[in-house]
Amino acid sequence: MPDVRLRDFSEDHSALALNTATLGHNMDGCGAGWSPEQVIDACAERGYGAITWWRREIGQRAMEIGERTRAAGMQVSGLCRSPFLVGPLAPRTRQGVLDDFFGSIEMASDLGASCLTICVGGVVEDTHSIRDSLKEVATIVAEAAPVAQAAGVRLALEPLNPVYGGNRSCLVTVRDAVDMCDAIDHPALALAIDVYHVWWDTTLGAELKRAGAGRIAGYHLCDWLADTQDVLLDRGMMGEGVADLKDIRGAVEGAGYTGFCEVEIFSAGNWWKRDPAEVLDICVERFRTVC
Ligand code: ZN
Repeated sequence: MPDVRLRDFSEDHSALALNTATLGHNMDGCGAGWSPEQVIDACAERGYGAITWWRREIGQRAMEIGERTRAAGMQVSGLCRSPFLVGPLAPRTRQGVLDDFFGSIEMASDLGASCLTICVGGVVEDTHSIRDSLKEVATIVAEAAPVAQAAGVRLALEPLNPVYGGNRSCLVTVRDAVDMCDAIDHPALALAIDVYHVWWDTTLGAELKRAGAGRIAGYHLCDWLADTQDVLLDRGMMGEGVADLKDIRGAVEGAGYTGFCEVEIFSAGNWWKRDPAEVLDICVERFRTVC
């Protein structure tokens, strides 16, 4: 068990947030295809505290959807996400990266989102170097940090599971993410901690303490399935897998985090095939009992 006294969610799930990826909305042809309005109403009915949206759901309607979320009594806990900044999936030019990155900051600001998630992208082609790739990422993030600050948005640097190191994120440990925050040293820069990416890391608590108070901008919930079939699209619901959810939350809260806990489940073969109303109900039940 963690050595900090955890917040008690057993009777109160107002800290629960939905990342709309959980309903399949960020992928073409997946999920039930609910409109943002349907998602807002269903979350508000169930007492969720916040919603994190994906850019492709927002289009030109950032202000409207942000206002509607708040009018229903919830917050916008975040926007997913920046473009990949480097590597094989990033825009082809640095200017292309910056234009898209700054556009995503503006959208987060218009939504009134408290943070923008950054997925940094994989190893820069031909470098064969995770170190050089991280250096390139740091120069781009340092350029964006003042832009984000001026827009009132925090940048949540999300280290991803090492299985994504090649193409989606050369930032694969909380240690390297804390080092990058320290090196850039800008108040707009923070961390997003996701169970899927950190569940294996026994240094999590120590690294988050090293990060210092106020350095965590988001905490993402799901579970790691022991026999996972697909490292991108087969995440488990909380309680289905092998992650020590209370211990991980202990590490996050031990570093001073008191914000939303956001369910983010990519599951093409299971959860995305279910009725979204059922999925939302199960998230509430699991949040109260196993998280
Ligand atoms: Zn996440």
